[in-house]
Amino acid sequence: MVGGKEQQVKIAVVGTGYVGLVVGTCLAETGHDVICVDSDKAKIDLLKRGKTPIYEPGLEELVRRNAQEERLAFTTNLKEAVEKSLVIFIAVGTPPDDTDAADLCNVFEVARDIGRAMNGYKIVVNKSTVPVGTADKVGETIAAETREEFDVVSNPEFLKEGAAIEDFMKPDRIIIGTSDVRVAEIMKELYAPFVRTGHPIIVMDIRSAELTKYACNAMLATRISFINEIANLCERVGADVDKIRQGMGSDARIGPAFLFPGVGYGGSCFPKDVRAVVRSAAEAGYEFRILRATDEVNEQQKSLLIGKVMRHFRGDLRGKVLALWGLSFKPRTDDMREAPSLTIVRGVLERGASVRAYDPVAAKVASAIFGGDVVLVKRNYDALEGADGLIIATEWNEFRYPDFKRMASLMKERVIFDGRNIYSPKTMQEHGFTYYSIGRP
Ligand code: NAD
Repeated sequence: MVGGKEQQVKIAVVGTGYVGLVVGTCLAETGHDVICVDSDKAKIDLLKRGKTPIYEPGLEELVRRNAQEERLAFTTNLKEAVEKSLVIFIAVGTPPDDTDAADLCNVFEVARDIGRAMNGYKIVVNKSTVPVGTADKVGETIAAETREEFDVVSNPEFLKEGAAIEDFMKPDRIIIGTSDVRVAEIMKELYAPFVRTGHPIIVMDIRSAELTKYACNAMLATRISFINEIANLCERVGADVDKIRQGMGSDARIGPAFLFPGVGYGGSCFPKDVRAVVRSAAEAGYEFRILRATDEVNEQQKSLLIGKVMRHFRGDLRGKVLALWGLSFKPRTDDMREAPSLTIVRGVLERGASVRAYDPVAAKVASAIFGGDVVLVKRNYDALEGADGLIIATEWNEFRYPDFKRMASLMKERVIFDGRNIYSPKTMQEHGFTYYSIGRP
């Protein structure tokens, strides 16, 4: 209910990927009438049948219920969706282009189509992660197509894949970039059901809102690269990064989150967003040195396990069979965009090994990427049959307490390369495994 008139707002969400589908579904869950648009007909057909094109815990059930209750609809027809709606979210992808800048083609295409479909006042909300100044350009693009009035708002999204619904329903904060008080009120009312526990809705100017999103991702990525460098130093000086992480994390000024060393960050956001900030800073005449280093460290970190594997097998992987657990860039998602597993798998394949991989949900995505180059198995233990070693690339919970005896009986050689530090070195020793992890003795 928006505008103080107890009136339901019609909402369109353009782009039904990891973000758009969650946004649309959660807004429908609070009673709004939402129409989700995507140019991918196969996705829309699937959604109309109550199936989700991506894996996100809890999402499919929510989609199905809201669709059944006729608050959530799906279409490829953007014009119709725009005509019916007051608020239109743009949630299309902004992947990196060949200069590492955010590719805004999809955003501007949607803006143009919105402009062409305008049949009255609209609020156009940029949900996609976009560089500073994009809202202005979206406004210009729409204005070139229509004489109808509209406002453009920046409303970056902070959800995490794997916990997207919880994050959207109970956000730490909502950022709204607009200079129009009335528009801010409408947006605040739209989000009111999600901030009943008192988390803030922060209204700011559009440019600051656009940059806030990048600043957050850049900070989190930097913490990961920082702890990875500490881990790399630990390996050289005989210290234990786990102890250091605890020691650092209990400092109230630092906090424990995002201080887990590993094989680097991946996904559809951190890598591209860090590079996009470096790039747009350069365009503004500023060299963002910390973020350049964050990216460099991360790229290096993704190859760290390959080095450990090579050293263990004395530089020769030919004929070796390597099991790999976890393909997605993090647990609870099937997203493999820029996943460290990609670097690791390709690295060991290039050096002559073969790979038997298991992931609880990403097998379908992985098979489209690797084709027949990797054997994808249905159960984690199947990957271990005849394996010369096991690589752990993603810390899915189900890997934490495996049957080590069974593992040992299946593997040709008892060696584990743990890229996520999920086992204790002591336990590994007790079970007779040679165990490599990150930054621990
Ligand atoms: P995605 O690739 O999963 O989904 C994008 C969708 O947009 C696709 O379904 C695609 O078919 C559709 N699309 C593209 N062009 C279109 C057009 N012209 N008309 C209609 N539909 C079109 O992307 P995503 O992961 O949901 O990310 C979307 C945006 O949100 C990006 O800017 C991303 O950086 C940002 N973001 C992502 C996350 C995340 O965890 N994935 C979190 C916060 C912010």
